[in-house]
Amino acid sequence: MAAYVEQAVRAGLPEMGFSDHIFMYWLPRDQRDPGLAMLEEQFDGYVEEVDRLRQAHPEIAIRLSVEADFIDGHQATLAAILDRYPWDYVLGSVHFIGDWGLDDARYVAGYDDWDVDVLCEHYFDLVCRGAETGRFDTIAHLDLVKKFGHRPRRDPRDLYARVGRRLAAAGVAVEVNTAGLRKPVGELYPHADLLVACREAGVPATLGSDAHAPEEVGADYPLAVAHLRAAGYDRVLTYEQRRRDWKALP
Ligand code: ZN
Ligand code: FE
Repeated sequence: MAAYVEQAVRAGLPEMGFSDHIFMYWLPRDQRDPGLAMLEEQFDGYVEEVDRLRQAHPEIAIRLSVEADFIDGHQATLAAILDRYPWDYVLGSVHFIGDWGLDDARYVAGYDDWDVDVLCEHYFDLVCRGAETGRFDTIAHLDLVKKFGHRPRRDPRDLYARVGRRLAAAGVAVEVNTAGLRKPVGELYPHADLLVACREAGVPATLGSDAHAPEEVGADYPLAVAHLRAAGYDRVLTYEQRRRDWKALP
């Protein structure tokens, strides 16, 4: 974690947020994959380490966050976990439809079980239902379902407009996330058409690199800024203690 902070400082970022993956709270302990998320017994230590790095690095603002899965039927469990810690912001995301990990390369054959347009409708409905819980400040990698290159066959603009309206009504922000550039799909999350729909609906945007290694901190931000500007955004949201603060784009 210290290496991530050092990279952020080197990259000249004025602030950064840690948003490790919440432990797989919806599964019995012996079924949680330690390769996908923190273990429950690591969670307190994670929060303490962010605090320690804050003391050690006054030259950069360090925010405490977590990326939390929306799992239908387990909302109360998640709410109780989130209530225990002083988050600056919480990222909400959907990586699972039932027990299928849709962004996991080991299970990519699962896409064969779906019509891609039905899958997109279902996936985005889950994301919006997550947003509507009110537990998340920002939705991470909004169109993760495209990760392996599965794109809607039908014109998705009507779907995207509905997603934008639901996110706006739910009061969440959308994350422009550069990790998609490092995945098979090779493009930013979310797609330009989806980002435009969010902007038209009044959904604020945030900026993230979804770094899973120190050298990825702040990766491809110039491309993300251009993506935001092309969609009509001229500022992004940041957070401190769940309060929103706008920053002008460079
Ligand atoms: Zn994620
Ligand atoms: Fe991630």
